[in-house]
Amino acid sequence: ASAESAAQRRALHNQLVELRGNIRVFCRLRPHPRSAVALGPDGTSVRLTAEGREQAFSFDRVFGPAASQAEVFAEVSELVQSALDGYKVCLFSYGQSGAGKTHTMQGGRAPDAQGIIPRSVFKILEAVHALKTEGWEYALEASFIEVYNEALRDLLAEAPRRGDSGRLADGAIKHAPDGGHTLVAGATRVAVAAQEEAAALVRRAAAARACEATAMNATSSRSHSVFMLNISGAHAASGVRLQGALNLVDLAGSERLNRSGAEGQRAKEACSINKSLSALGDVFAALAAKSPHVPYRNSKLTQLLQPCLGGSGKTLMFVNVNPEPESAQETVCSLRFAAKVNACETAARGGARRNVQAGGADADAPARRQSLAPGA
Ligand code: ADP
Ligand code: MG
Repeated sequence: ASAESAAQRRALHNQLVELRGNIRVFCRLRPHPRSAVALGPDGTSVRLTAEGREQAFSFDRVFGPAASQAEVFAEVSELVQSALDGYKVCLFSYGQSGAGKTHTMQGGRAPDAQGIIPRSVFKILEAVHALKTEGWEYALEASFIEVYNEALRDLLAEAPRRGDSGRLADGAIKHAPDGGHTLVAGATRVAVAAQEEAAALVRRAAAARACEATAMNATSSRSHSVFMLNISGAHAASGVRLQGALNLVDLAGSERLNRSGAEGQRAKEACSINKSLSALGDVFAALAAKSPHVPYRNSKLTQLLQPCLGGSGKTLMFVNVNPEPESAQETVCSLRFAAKVNACETAARGGARRNVQAGGADADAPARRQSLAPGA
């Protein structure tokens, strides 16, 4: 990637954004001995049997229960590495608790089990090393932020986190002008230059989230975690400077918070979700409609991720699905949300105004996405 080819890739990217929007949606099914979800033959759709009827949803890509962590990463590796070209990149995992969001983002300790966070850090470091031979110097800095109830916390804070420790001041989110980095004031920033540092960071991040899960139990499924990697590149010979970012987001569980209230209702009425997740849906909807006002400021999460979501950012959402029949209603809700995120692309491409509301009632409209070649 010389300065020139980075510019070429950027031009190509801008063309692609015009054509198909900058949001892609992948679906991943976790293994389960009894499954109510069937894979379509082309690897881009799923069929779900719920309430005695079958519904189909299509995505850019669907990973079946046998897909390995390596296979999944192979499909996102290029997108992840585009942060080295100066893009603001964001990957989400979305779905109900137990659907595989943390497995996808963080994964297990064994090399084969590692998820997108460790694989991305190692891959980017490898690329940084290779780019040195072409005269590029890169600096990487990582933070790990939790968003819970509209408050930010520093998951890399040294002190054991209990109560309010690690809590960051309101207004901590700062976007540097002219495509600079997003910084969270007060949050620990860890420089990563060598593989050993990356390994230590990855262990620290995994431990932080695990500790959170035991200490806060119920809340951990209702919080979002954002692994932020700010990337600065400089090419001395040409004077080119790049500021990219990679955000890896393990979203709060998408399940309805009041299950009993939803019992017996048809899923169509019952798809009401966590407020900050619907704020994210509203942002996607406004972007799709090319609305002059995008409501980034309605939630801390969308405020934090603003540079990735709009403009020349790149977004990929995994919708994680637990295919067990008992979860069919939640799965319908997840797939509907994801299909709407996906529909945003179609709307964005055609420039058509369409009212795409997260959790809204446009239930029977199937995703109408044309299948597009993965990559770019
Ligand atoms: P979530 O973060 O969405 O609540 P987890 O990632 O913790 O869900 O997954 C729940 C359980 O299912 C974990 O034990 C996890 O290891 C397992 N699991 C999830 N997805 C997969 C998968 N694709 N392959 C194997 N095991 C999985
Ligand atoms: Mg989880």
